[in-house]
Amino acid sequence: MRIDVVTLFPEMVEHAAAFGVTGRALERGLWRLGTWNPRDFATDSYRTVDDRPYGGGPGMVMLAEPLAKALAAARATQHDDGFGATRTICLSPAGAPLTHARVAELAAAGDGTAYLLVAGRYEGIDERLVQREVDEEISIGDFVVSGGELPALMLIDAIVRQRPGVLNDAESAVQDSFVGGRLDCPHYTRPEQDAGGKVPDVLLSGNHAAIRRWRLKQALGRTWERRPEMLRHRALSNEETTLLAEYQRERQQVQQ
Ligand code: SAM
Repeated sequence: MRIDVVTLFPEMVEHAAAFGVTGRALERGLWRLGTWNPRDFATDSYRTVDDRPYGGGPGMVMLAEPLAKALAAARATQHDDGFGATRTICLSPAGAPLTHARVAELAAAGDGTAYLLVAGRYEGIDERLVQREVDEEISIGDFVVSGGELPALMLIDAIVRQRPGVLNDAESAVQDSFVGGRLDCPHYTRPEQDAGGKVPDVLLSGNHAAIRRWRLKQALGRTWERRPEMLRHRALSNEETTLLAEYQRERQQVQQ
């Protein structure tokens, strides 16, 4: 898989992507990253990439032309590099809120897939560019950040960690929040006892079946307490129903 980002701050994307899981996967050739600066495609001597909004008002708007040229160059390079169908995604507060389900779909694409991400700045991008060139707009949440680079990096990280071979067993994403339609369970490490209390006995028992059951119960309980809508949107298995009822009974007893 190849991911290219059109951005006024390519170093920001390249630098951040080089750390941790995404960085190791890059080094191992499990994905490729390209960056394209629309400023390099501006035609005037000032390398202008923005202009005032029609209709007046505050801020500047990104010009369509340098962006369109950057996108064309990125697509040509993806093609020459052997990558097929390119999907162009614009990071935008007006996009569809990003979910694990959408990340999983994007990550499940074949090795020959290329994504092209467009990071906006200022007040945003000339709408005609979005209408003409973009397949999908994605938002990382109901708040505004100053540019599309961090949203693009979040999307990249979320996709890359789902790709085959990227995470080792210890980091496996299977029990991550949202993957199984619930939040993750709480985690503990050494020491066994600290100012916050003692590690639950079951985790020290070495009884793997009991540990699995406890973790699933805690995960379901947390989801019920913090994100109940996640449980309303799917059917629970018999085991999940039993464990959640147990968790609710135990909670009631603590509160009485
Ligand atoms: N005027 C725009 C609005 O209110 O919708 C905000 C523009 S924002 C300052 C500049 C750029 O940051 C956007 O074009 C977009 O690429 C990115 N951005 C900001 N918040 C975002 C979010 N929640 N999700 C995805 N991208 C975002």
